[in-house]
Amino acid sequence: MESVEKYLSEVLAEIKPLPAGELALGEALGAVLDGDVTALWALPAFDNSAMDGYAVLAADVAGASVDRPTILEVVGEIPAGDTAAHTVEPGTCMRIMTGAPMPDGADTVIPVEQTDGGSETVSIYQSAEPGASVRLAGGDARPGDLLLASGTRLGAVHLGLLAAGGRASVQARMLPRVTVISTGDELVDPGAELVRGQIWESNATMLAAAARHAGCPARRHPIVRDSIDAVLAAVEEALPDTDLLITTGGVSMGGEHDVVKAALGSLGTVTFRKVAMQPGMPQGFGVVGPASTPIFTLPGNPVSAYVSFCLFVVPALDALQGHTAGERGVSRTATLTEPVRSPPDKRSFLRGILDAASGRVAPVTGQASHQLASLARANALVIVPEPVTSLDAGSTVEVIELP
Ligand code: AMP
Ligand code: MG
Repeated sequence: MESVEKYLSEVLAEIKPLPAGELALGEALGAVLDGDVTALWALPAFDNSAMDGYAVLAADVAGASVDRPTILEVVGEIPAGDTAAHTVEPGTCMRIMTGAPMPDGADTVIPVEQTDGGSETVSIYQSAEPGASVRLAGGDARPGDLLLASGTRLGAVHLGLLAAGGRASVQARMLPRVTVISTGDELVDPGAELVRGQIWESNATMLAAAARHAGCPARRHPIVRDSIDAVLAAVEEALPDTDLLITTGGVSMGGEHDVVKAALGSLGTVTFRKVAMQPGMPQGFGVVGPASTPIFTLPGNPVSAYVSFCLFVVPALDALQGHTAGERGVSRTATLTEPVRSPPDKRSFLRGILDAASGRVAPVTGQASHQLASLARANALVIVPEPVTSLDAGSTVEVIELP
C-alpha cells in the first residue's frame, strides 16, 4: 500500500496544465488567469459626480448656511451618459446626476439634500471643500496599474472588474471538461424501474455535480456495462471533448468482474494501486489518448468515490489549471464528541458533522462506504492517522470541511 501523499504526488507529477486561451467574460468564471491584467484606462475614466446635486465652484459656496444660503443660477443639467462639453462660470452652477461628467470650471458637487432643489436658481445651504462629492479620474486605478495578478482564479468581482476596465475577454487557462463514466451491470438510471439486484446509478450524477461545484464543466456519460469492450468504447467516445476522465466501479481488488481494471490496464499509463486509506483503497490513475488526458478509476462505492474525488481529483483539476496553491480542501482541527475506531495502517476519513462555532465534530452513524445517506448528513471528513486505531471522545482531530 502507498500513502495518500505519495499517491497524490504521483498523480500531480503526471498532469500538465491545459493551454491558455482567450475566454469571453461570460465563460471565464472559475478560470485561472494566465498573465497579469493591467488597467488599459483610468478607473474612473473621467472626473464625475458621486451624488445627485449641483456642480459648483467651492469658492462660490464658501460660507453658505441654512440661515444664509448662497443663491446660484442653474445654467443646465448633466445626466449620466451626457457626452457634451459644459462649463460652469463663477456665480452659476449645473444640476448634475451621479456618474455624470463634471463640467469644466466646477470643482465640487453639493448634494441635492443640501439645497432647495431649485431649477432656475438654487439655494445652497452648506459649504463644501473643493473636490467634495467628486470622483476623480484614476481614483480607483490608473492606466498601467496591476488589476489582477496572473494565477488569480476569476470570481464574480474579478469578472466585474475586467468588464469595468473595458475588456470583453481574458487570457486564462481553459476550464477542464470532466466526463464521468459509471460502470456496472447492476446500474439503472434514476427514474427508471428497478428489479431486485439492480440499483440506481448515483456516482456519475454526484461526481459530475462535484466537478461543476469545483468550477469545471462536467457531464455524466451513459451507464457502461461490465464488459471490457464497452468500457474501452466509452473511454474512446468521451476522450475528444474531455480534459479529465473519471470512471467508477470495476476496480476492486481481484475478481473477474473488475472490467475497468482489465480494460484500462493496457491503455496509456494507467496503473492500479492500493492507497492506505479508508474509504477508497483501490485507486487507478494514468493518462490516456493523444492529449494525455488524465483518467481516474475511482472505486464504485459512492462514499469511496466521493472521498477519492475530494482528495485526488480536485487537486488534479487545479493542476490542470496551473494552480497548485492548495486553496481548496480547507482543513482545521476540531474536538471529537464521540470515540472512533480506525483500521491499522490506514488513514481514515470518517464522515462527521462539524459545528464550526464550537469546534466540535460528531461522527455520523453509518460509516460504511456505501452509506450515501450518512455522507449526506456530514459536512466534514475526520482524519484518523494511519497508526491510530482508536480515539477517545475529546481528542483533537484534523478535519476537512466538505464543499
Ligand atoms: P465495484 O467497485 O464495481 O465492485 O462496486 C462496488 C460497489 O459500489 C457495489 O456495491 C456497486 O453496486 C456500487 N456501485 C458501483 N458503481 C456505482 C454507481 N455508479 N452508483 C452507485 N453505486 C455504485
Ligand atoms: Mg462493478
